[in-house]
Amino acid sequence: MEKGEKLYEGKAKILYLTENPEQLIQHFKDDATAFDGLKKGTIQGKGVVNNQISITLFNLLKKRGIKSHFEEQLSDNEMLVKRVEIMPVEVVVRLVSTGSLCKRYGIQEGLTFAKPIVELYYKNDQLHDPLMNDDHVLTLGLATAAELAQMKQQALQVSAILREFFDSIGIDLVDFKLEFGRYQGQILLADEISPDTCRFWEKGTHRKLDKDRFRQDLGDVEKTYQEMLQRIGAKAT
Ligand code: 5GP
Repeated sequence: MEKGEKLYEGKAKILYLTENPEQLIQHFKDDATAFDGLKKGTIQGKGVVNNQISITLFNLLKKRGIKSHFEEQLSDNEMLVKRVEIMPVEVVVRLVSTGSLCKRYGIQEGLTFAKPIVELYYKNDQLHDPLMNDDHVLTLGLATAAELAQMKQQALQVSAILREFFDSIGIDLVDFKLEFGRYQGQILLADEISPDTCRFWEKGTHRKLDKDRFRQDLGDVEKTYQEMLQRIGAKAT
């Protein structure tokens, strides 16, 4: 696959055009940022880990009826994806309390919810991705009611599938962020699903197995990303 012009460069990924107008190359970088870009660094090997983990999870979800933008693996740190129009709404699903939820509502960490909480955030760097509700999304015209309903429903399905998968490898899925895109009249899961976009805690010990190791300077960052790749790969194959 010929790599064309760079279409977009974000904090962790680059999108390149291809000779097919309907497809892009999604390249995963080792660069890491946190706290709205205030903290910057590199996690050696992260691009490869996040590409491989995303591919494994997109494939798992596909088998369970959730369609995504993923087409095929191109290299260790690149995948071919459908050229979707990214929805400007990020969907966060929370199964266990932590992170900004605890700060915002003053609740204790580590509470497992009876029912997952679905949150919507405006994908807007300048405004620092503010929390929003359905009415905001609809009034601002960010998605139609049908699109929003699909995004929320798919997010809950993804949550149930991933929770079961991670349970089976001794890991609690704590929370995660999804992005969706429009493609030929459908809403498709897009972006990535990786330790950058999810929180994973080892069952029992609550050892953090995700980007919080970088955010909170917990050490063993590279080693933990490699461990996640190994644990997920071993189960999925
Ligand atoms: P929180 O709102 O607690 O900071 O994050 C909730 C979940 O969504 C975490 O799993 C976090 O990794 C993910 N998340 C939320 N916003 C972003 C974002 O802008 N970038 C990334 N990589 N993950 C995010």
